[in-house]
Formats: sequence, C-alpha cells, structure tokens
Amino acid sequence: MRILLTNDDGIFAEGLQTLVQEIKKIAETYVVAPDHEQSATGHAITMHRPLRAEKVQYYHSPEIPAWSVNGTPADCVKLAVEAILPCRPDLVISGINRGANLGTDVIYSGTVSAAFEGVILGIPAIAASLTEYNNPHYEFAAAFIARLAQEFIRQEKPRDLLLNVNIPGCAPEEITGVAVCRLGVRQYKNTFEKRTDPRGRTYYWLAGELVDGEAETDTDVAANKACKISITPITHELTDFRLLDHIKSWRIGLEEGRVSSGKTGKTGTACDAED
Ligand code: MN
Repeated sequence: MRILLTNDDGIFAEGLQTLVQEIKKIAETYVVAPDHEQSATGHAITMHRPLRAEKVQYYHSPEIPAWSVNGTPADCVKLAVEAILPCRPDLVISGINRGANLGTDVIYSGTVSAAFEGVILGIPAIAASLTEYNNPHYEFAAAFIARLAQEFIRQEKPRDLLLNVNIPGCAPEEITGVAVCRLGVRQYKNTFEKRTDPRGRTYYWLAGELVDGEAETDTDVAANKACKISITPITHELTDFRLLDHIKSWRIGLEEGRVSSGKTGKTGTACDAED
C-alpha cells in the first residue's frame, strides 16, 4: 500500500508530522505539502508562476521521501501524482489539520480540497482534522486515522470516495464513539471587524464567532459537540439533481425568441436604490 500525505498547515506542521509517524508503520509513505500555511485557500491552484518542489527531511523520519512545494494544497497533490512520485498512490490523506473542518466550512478548507484533488485524479482520499486549535494532541487522532486508512484500503469502494473526518478536541478517554453522518451547517456572527488604520482609513478583518445554534442532531457538527469522531463521505458532484427538470421547464430555449442584449427590462433591486 502506497499513501501520499499532504496538508494545508505546512510541511512541518505538527499534525502532519505526527501522522507521518503513524502511517509509515502501515504503508509506503510519501509527503508532498505546502512550504507554509495555506489554510482556507480552498481549491486554488497555481497557474501564473512556477512551482518548485524542494526535497526535505523530517528529523524523526529521515527515511520518508518528502517535498516542500511553494503552492497550494491542491497543487501539492496534483504535482505529487503527475510529476514527483515514482508511482500512483493508493490513498491520499490530508491533515491532520489544526482546527475543525465541519459542515459548510469544507468549502473553504485547503485540507479538504487537497483530498478532493486526489479524488479528481482517481485516487480515494481521507481529509483529517482535529477540532482543538489551541492545545491539540495529535497522537490519538493519528493512530485513529492510521486504523481507518487500513480499513479504507481493505473495503470495496468507488475510486472517488472521500471521507471527511473530524476528531473532537476532548481528551481521548472522553471520546464517546464514531458517528457516520452528514455535513451540518456552520454559521458565524460578527463576521467582519471594522477598524480604522493609523492613517484614518477603514479596514476589515475577518474574524467571526461561531453561532452555537444548530438544532439538528444527525450532523458532523452535532457529533463533534457530543465528543464523537465524525466521518462523512463527501463528493465534488455539485449538480443539483433536484432542480434539473424544473430548470428545463423555464422559458429560456432559443425557440422562445433570440436572447436579448440585456439592455431592456428592469434588473435593479431595492439595495441599488438605497446605495
Ligand atoms: Mn489548516
């Protein structure tokens, strides 16, 4: 079994280093990861400057081939599979991220996007995150992910399977189980702080507090709150199949008349009037 490890916290992040030490016990291990933190970069890829991959050595695992890349998490997986590794990996694992990747936050996550890149290339993947940010203990999480990886490889599965895994921040002995569940919703309030710089100009800083209001109980958000490890199979298939037939019924075919230049008709909203 050959496993490619990556992350979005940077190649020397503790979560990735701890994972290397567990995964190397069970598989031929390669690491290709960003040279600095790339959290919340989503699925960005680098097109307008050259990518460089520099061979690096972990102090604790000098035998593990590892490359540091001046790109995004998605770049790292693409580059690893298409250009760096001697053979295709059987599995991509991204993480262990410092901080949760739950619910709607997976859209912004570099950790999850790296795993999606694996799936896009036809390699199943696991995205692993530890909810605790300030005082993370990665050993338990890494051991769990290694066990999951072994089972993952053993099981019959589609090549585009991606598991999003979040390990709660509570002490290992307080973890009450594993929930296989759907993604929830993460909502924030006071998203931007409005401040004034020393020259008197306004600037905004993205911060935001989590709204603790989700009532649903069958989601990854709820599972983590209940000290359970959450596992959600997720997909990059973005088509909304519920609406395909409905949209087909709209009067937008060419037989309805040529498409107008867009200069006619009122398109403004109430917001325009207020501005
Ligand atoms: Mn991160």
